[in-house]
Amino acid sequence: MHFTGAHILSISQFDSNDVERLFKVADAMEPYARREKRTRVLDGAILGNLFFEPSTRTRVSFGCAFNLLGGHVRETSDIKASAISKGESLYDTARVISGYSDIVAMRHPTAGSVEEFARASRVPVVNAGDGPSEHPSQALLDLYTIRKELNIRGPVAGLRIAMVGDLKHGRTVHSLSKLLSLYRDIHFTLVSPRALAMPGDIVEHLRRAGHSVVETDNMEEGLHNNDTVYLTRIQEERFQSQQEADLYRGKFRLNQAIYTQHCKPNTVIMHPLPRDSRAEANELDNDMNEHPSLAIFRQTDNGVLIRMALFALVLGVADAVDKHAEEVGWYTAKRFRRVPSAEV
Ligand code: ASP
Repeated sequence: MHFTGAHILSISQFDSNDVERLFKVADAMEPYARREKRTRVLDGAILGNLFFEPSTRTRVSFGCAFNLLGGHVRETSDIKASAISKGESLYDTARVISGYSDIVAMRHPTAGSVEEFARASRVPVVNAGDGPSEHPSQALLDLYTIRKELNIRGPVAGLRIAMVGDLKHGRTVHSLSKLLSLYRDIHFTLVSPRALAMPGDIVEHLRRAGHSVVETDNMEEGLHNNDTVYLTRIQEERFQSQQEADLYRGKFRLNQAIYTQHCKPNTVIMHPLPRDSRAEANELDNDMNEHPSLAIFRQTDNGVLIRMALFALVLGVADAVDKHAEEVGWYTAKRFRRVPSAEV
């Protein structure tokens, strides 16, 4: 892919060389994300951060990533607070906002909406989640995390991954599956209630690309013999009613005891977050918080690096970041150290 000026809408745009290029740029962002250095490479540039669906990590980390490159962020984070609630079309919103911005990150509840917006936009658009469809930057940060956690320097051939939960509506698992399909010999174990299974076209795509796919509704069986277990929340906002979502909430839960009994030692535990910590759901128990293999907060840290890399590549400054570097004068905490683990 030619990154400069490109919209980033789907993981299908990427080949494995693009991924390597992106990850190399992400690695180079570490001293900036750690606040060991600062750069003004995007001084004067404006990110339009449009979030028409709830978000904490993605919205804030896109904003921080842009700030860390020296750029400014303008946020719209509520459909009710935007003219869309007065009947304005995505086309008009795109024409307007792209006149105020150098790049736009956008989340919206409808599949395909970000692409529709991008068609009318005069600047590059990054998909920050379009309904149940895709979440490409999350998949990229997930793969980046998998490689770091498992100490894999190049392609992830032979990886064994279990994905657990609402695989029907979860855009993160859709994008991550497509991304992993670029590599050789991946073993997918897809654990979900039957009604929330991974969409058939994605399963077929994985099989056609030569990967092994096992689908099951038995979590304990599914946890065995993986390098990584990727848990997801029941996506309650995609159901017709709360009652329907309640049918599935709490069906699959991972805690310390289940991990010890069913997972291979050192299996990396991931979750795109938010985890639903209410008692009736609790798909990833707090008793795992200090476990050294729990990678969820390293995922969120890595998200900043990946989003910085995307901005730097799309805006054509990836090779100029260091030229604009300066020392940091303020006190900087050691943000990226591993949280010391309790005895586990
Ligand atoms: N934060 C992720 C997303 O926006 C996962 C989730 O909401 O469950 O898709």
